[in-house]
Parts: sequence; C-alpha cells; structure tokens
Amino acid sequence: MTNQAPVRIGVLTSGGDAQGMNAAVRAVVRAAISRGAEVYAIFEGYQGMIDGGNGIRRFGWDDVGSILGSGGTVIGTFRCKEFRTREGRLKAARNLIERGIDRLVVIGGDGSLTGLDTFRAEWPSLLGELHANGWISQQTKESHSRLIIAGLVGSIDNDLVGVDSTIGADTALHRIMEAIDAISSTAASHQRSFVLEVMGRHCGYLALAAAIAGGCDYVLIPENPPAPGWETEMCEALRVGRARGRRDSLVIVAEGATDQQGNPITSAHVRQVIEDTLGEDTRVTIPGHVQRGGTPSAYDRWASTWLGAEAVDEVLAPAEPDVAKVIGILGSGVVRIPLVKAVSDTKRVPELIAAGNYEAAMAARGPSFNELFDVFGELSMPASFTAPSGAKRIGIVLAGGLAPGMNTASRAAVRLGIARGHRMVGIHNGFSGLRKGIMSELGWDDVDGWSGRGGAELGLRRGVPVTEDLYQMARSLEDNHIDALLVIGGWNAYQAAYLLHAERDRYPAFQIPLVAIPASIDNNLPGTEVAIGTDTALNVNVEAIDRIKMSGSATTRSFVVETMGRYCGYLALMSGLAGGAERVYLNEEGISLSALNADVDWLKASFAAGRRLFLAVRNERASESYTTEFIGRLLEGAADGAYDVRTHIIGHVQQGADPTPADRLLATRMASAALDQLGTALASGKGGGWYLGLQDSHIGCHPLAHMTEHIDTQHRRPIDQWWMTLRPVLSAMADEPPRQN
Ligand code: ADP
Repeated sequence: MTNQAPVRIGVLTSGGDAQGMNAAVRAVVRAAISRGAEVYAIFEGYQGMIDGGNGIRRFGWDDVGSILGSGGTVIGTFRCKEFRTREGRLKAARNLIERGIDRLVVIGGDGSLTGLDTFRAEWPSLLGELHANGWISQQTKESHSRLIIAGLVGSIDNDLVGVDSTIGADTALHRIMEAIDAISSTAASHQRSFVLEVMGRHCGYLALAAAIAGGCDYVLIPENPPAPGWETEMCEALRVGRARGRRDSLVIVAEGATDQQGNPITSAHVRQVIEDTLGEDTRVTIPGHVQRGGTPSAYDRWASTWLGAEAVDEVLAPAEPDVAKVIGILGSGVVRIPLVKAVSDTKRVPELIAAGNYEAAMAARGPSFNELFDVFGELSMPASFTAPSGAKRIGIVLAGGLAPGMNTASRAAVRLGIARGHRMVGIHNGFSGLRKGIMSELGWDDVDGWSGRGGAELGLRRGVPVTEDLYQMARSLEDNHIDALLVIGGWNAYQAAYLLHAERDRYPAFQIPLVAIPASIDNNLPGTEVAIGTDTALNVNVEAIDRIKMSGSATTRSFVVETMGRYCGYLALMSGLAGGAERVYLNEEGISLSALNADVDWLKASFAAGRRLFLAVRNERASESYTTEFIGRLLEGAADGAYDVRTHIIGHVQQGADPTPADRLLATRMASAALDQLGTALASGKGGGWYLGLQDSHIGCHPLAHMTEHIDTQHRRPIDQWWMTLRPVLSAMADEPPRQN
C-alpha cells in the first residue's frame, strides 16, 4: 500500500441545494480519510471541475468540522451549462486526471446524476483525446482507465423513485409544517381559509405529506390531477368541515399541480374559487425558498451521514464498476440502484402525468404514496355523525410513557374509524381508565386540531395492569360494549396488550380483536424499525446538542450529554450521529474502565493537537457504575487546564415536543393499518392480538402470542436492533486516523 499512489476521490454538490448536503459532504470526506483515501472537494458543482485551479481543493479532516448542522452546501452548487458539452467535460476530465482523481461522489438531483453518468461513460474516450493531444501520458491514461462514481440524491422534492427519502425532503417538510402550524393558529382565530403553495414541480410528496401531517382539508398534487368539477368538490369539503366545527380551512397546492387538461392550478386560482364560492376571506402563503433553508433535521443529518459513508464504500470497492449506482435509504437499509434506472424511473413520472396515465404515475411513486393519498381522502372528508346500525365500538387506549404523536395517532384512528363505519371510543387515562370504565365516544370534530399537538389528550398511565385488575377490565369492556381495542404506547402498553391476549381463555371479554401500535421515544419495541415519537425526541436532542455546542464555542470544552432511551441506545447513537458526537456510550456495548481510560488519553491528545470541542452522548442506562456525572468528573480530572467539562441531562423535554412531520405521518399510517387489521378481524367475527411495525417501508402485523420471542426481556428491547449497523459510521466520523503528512 505504501508505494502505491493514493486513491483520490472527488466530491461535489450540484443542482438545487438541499439541507443535509453538508452532512453528506462531511461524511464522504471523513469516511474517505478513515479508509486511507485522499479526498478533494470540487467547488460550485461541475463548474469547479471545469475551472480546475482553486475549484478543486484537497480537504482534510477539519475542513468539514462544524458543517453538519448548516443548511445549504458549503462547497457551493451551480447549474453549469458547459458540463452539458463534450468540450466542458474534456476540461473536467483533464483537471481530475492531473490530480489523479478517478472516483467521484456527486450529490445532486436527477439532472446532475444524468450528467455524471454521461461523464463516466465518456471517460475512456475523453482520456483517449487527452492522450492524443499530448496532455496526458499513456501510463496516466492506463492507470485511470475508469471513472468510478456514486450518486446521492439531494432534492427537497423527494422525487427519486425507489428510495424512502431524498436528502433535504424531511427538512423541507419541517419548514412547511412550521408554516402550517403558524398559519393554523391565526386562521382559527379569524375563521379564515388559507391556501399554501409548496414546492414540487412534478412530485406531490411534500404537498401530500404536509396535508396529512398538518391536518389540512384538501390537497392538489401533480400525480393526480383532479377531475373536472374539482372546485365544487373542494368547496363542499371545506363547507362540511366548517359545519362539523372546524374553525379554519387549509388547502395545500403543489407548485406543479394541474387539472386533467394540463392547465396549471395556481394558488391564486384556488383562493379565488374559495372566495367566490364560500364567500370566505382567503389568504395565500407561499413559503418558497424557506423550504430549502434552515438547519437540517435530525433525519437529514444521520441519513446523509450514512449515505456519504456508503458512497465512499461504493467508489472504493464497487461490486459492479461499470454500473453507476445511486445510493439511498430504503427501510432500515441502504440500497444501490443502477443510476440509469433510477433516473429513467424518476423521469417517467412526469411523462405518465402528461400522457394522462395518473394511476401509473401514482403507482410509480411507490405503495406508501398511494396509501398516504387514500388515507388523506378518508381523514379529510368530514364523516357523518350517525354511525351505521350495528357499527362496532372500537376502544382506543394509550399506555406507557408519553410519546409525541400519540394525539396524531388517536385523531387518525377516530376519523378513519368513523369513515370506515365504526364507533370510536376514547378510553381515558390508560388501562386504569379502562378498569374504571372512564370512556366516551369521540366524534369527527372532537379530535380537530390534535394532529400536531404534543402530549396525550386521552391521558395515559405508565403502569402495566396486574392480575387483580384483569377482572375489572374485562367487566368494563363488556359493560361498555367494546368490540375491539386499539392500544397505542410503549413497552408497558405492549406488556399490557400481551397480558390481555394471554388471559383471553380465562376472560372471554379479552377475545376481541386487539392491536398495539408502537409509540415510544425509546424506540425499544419489537417488530418495528421506528416507533412513533422517536423522530421528535431525536430532533429535540439534536437541537439541544446544537445549542450546547454553541455555548462552548468560545472556549475549549468537553460535553457529556445524556439522552433517554432506557436500555435501548437508539436515541443516544442517532443523536450522536446527527449531532456530531465523538463518543457514544450505549447499554448494548456497556462501558468498561479501560475503554474510558482510552477515551481520556485520546481526548487529551486531541486537545493538545488543537481540538476545541468534544462531545460524548451517553444513554441513560449505558452503565450502572459509570454515570454521566462520573464520566464528566473523569474527563475533568484529566483536563489539566486544557479544557473544562460540562454535563447535561436532556431529560423529559424529549417527550414534550409537538410531533415532527415524520412522527405525524408514521402515526397516521400506523392508525390506518391498525384499523385495517381490526376491521378485517371484526368482519370475520374472530378475535386475535397483534402488534404493528414499520419494516422495509411497509407496516406489517405480528401476532402478540409470539412477541416474547423477539424481545430481550431483561433489557426491555428488541433482540434485533437494525440501527447498530450505524455504530461504525459514527466511529469513522469521530476518530481521525493518524496523519501521514
Ligand atoms: P438537478 O441536478 O437538481 O436536477 P439540473 O438539472 O439543473 O439540477 O442539473 C444540474 C447540473 O448538472 C447542470 O447545470 C449541468 O451542469 C449538469 N447536468 C444536468 N443534466 C445534464 C446532462 N444531460 N448532461 C450533462 N450534464 C448535465
């Protein structure tokens, strides 16, 4: 290895900017250095590659310090016309080859990735031309005969077919949700209508997701142009919503929405229609570039970090060097999709829309897009007050610790349940309320405004029912004619659901269909990659970490931050990854004194070499002996004036925020899937117990009877924890290998 020329990787951002691009650049730089490669930042997209000179700069470890939490892209982006020409690409190839760079990671939209693949395909002929012109030697030509590339999709629209989310989409949704939540309060005060226009020229994801998460009334998206007469349908939906008690109306329009004749539907037109038809004061809000701005969300930080590290793996050891790949996250894993296919599938959607094939356009967006669209239709259409005769009564009970999104799930369950012909009964104060029979039927309008509200309107209690409670609970279910039960909550809720189901032979009242959905900031539940509330807690932590770091920026300081999570290290690891921690301490790994000593030595050397800030994130139960306080003191004892130490326990604020867009969407999907399962069971007349979970982007159903096989009971967490694969990524971002020069 020592005599070989180092492998050199170029990284650039191109096309529209997106929050999270910096996290990806940082990850590419640090993963490359960790793997022994040299890395060059190419400034202003493809323009820097064409200009050469200072446009291509070698980056070191510290060049990407402190950029994880900044929006935009610190290496610049540009729409470069010249790269569309062969002459431009010839200049680019020459500039790369002169520096020995033959691997590229590009973070951009489908245009940027198309250009990248053209460049890759042309590379041998470009090198041939450079050689023929006498600009490079035969040896250079031969030693860089291939350009190896990896593409990451930076696009706030979330328009890449085949992956869950593109870099920037989650943050854009945060910005839109901030606008909706702000508008909702003023709209409700004046009984006004609002039209919100969001980005998405060909892709309605942001509009649809915002409409669901924001509890809006109507949505217009490019993939599903409304049929003639949509204006009447929209106004009717708004009118009925008001009649049912809504104080405001909110319509979301994607900027690329059209009618079935292809005429654009502008937000101004929607406003005019509402004013003319309903005579209502209506305002338009267009957040515009605000959607691209601000600090990236926790997801856009950890996911982009993961993707950047994977992109480095791809260009260093491609499984198929001649097939360029786009790398994205799907479910709990990373997928590598052939770039040409990813781009052509993505470009096909606007073509399908233009051809009037809306069904195929919707299908191309993936099953969860269709699912969300249908659920929005049900959620937003105000249902009649009168339940059909013989309607079943479904009880909703919350249990365990508080998780942001519990209200969203309750609201969705009530509205979807009513829309599907059930009577929905809110059980107050958890299983203790069930035991005492404290419950009331909830109507469509009773849950208005719950979508974005933190806390738990129905009330909840932490404890698991004990055997003595079972008789009373069974009586209460019978007395209140509860035909099925939806349990929303964390570990204790699952334990309670399991207990009821296990005791069904002794208590026939428990033979009803029973479904539990995961809501816990700890993310310690079986059968699901994420639980409702986790994303919100993570965002709270990342915001706290940003502020903590800022507080130490004027001095040299070490921080030890403690997160919740009980015995599950998810929050600690992901907060560390998204917050840029150097160390995380997890119960899954334990903490040993020798490891702590090694950390102290590393820290001392690191501060001596110029470090100004150190961050460790410790899970609350990482170790019984080595507490946050203890680690703080240990670091302090070794500081010798080089730095000071602060410890910070983030505490219950992690449970107290309003749910993030991702948690609202997850809660809605979970509630819908739970009602599907309960509806099917009720229709078949059979009981049964299940718990639901998100796996590989789908919500699956698992029998409660087998739950214990999937959990580590002692540590109250699932046996299989997918996110531990990210542990080495954090280490690669944190530990700079010894410098060679
Ligand atoms: P996005 O990447 O966000 O889709 P654009 O389509 O504007 O944005 O592309 C960004 C840049 O990528 C362009 O300015 C150009 O430099 C390059 N690019 C786009 N399409 C091509 C192409 N077909 N051939 C070569 N380069 C391209």
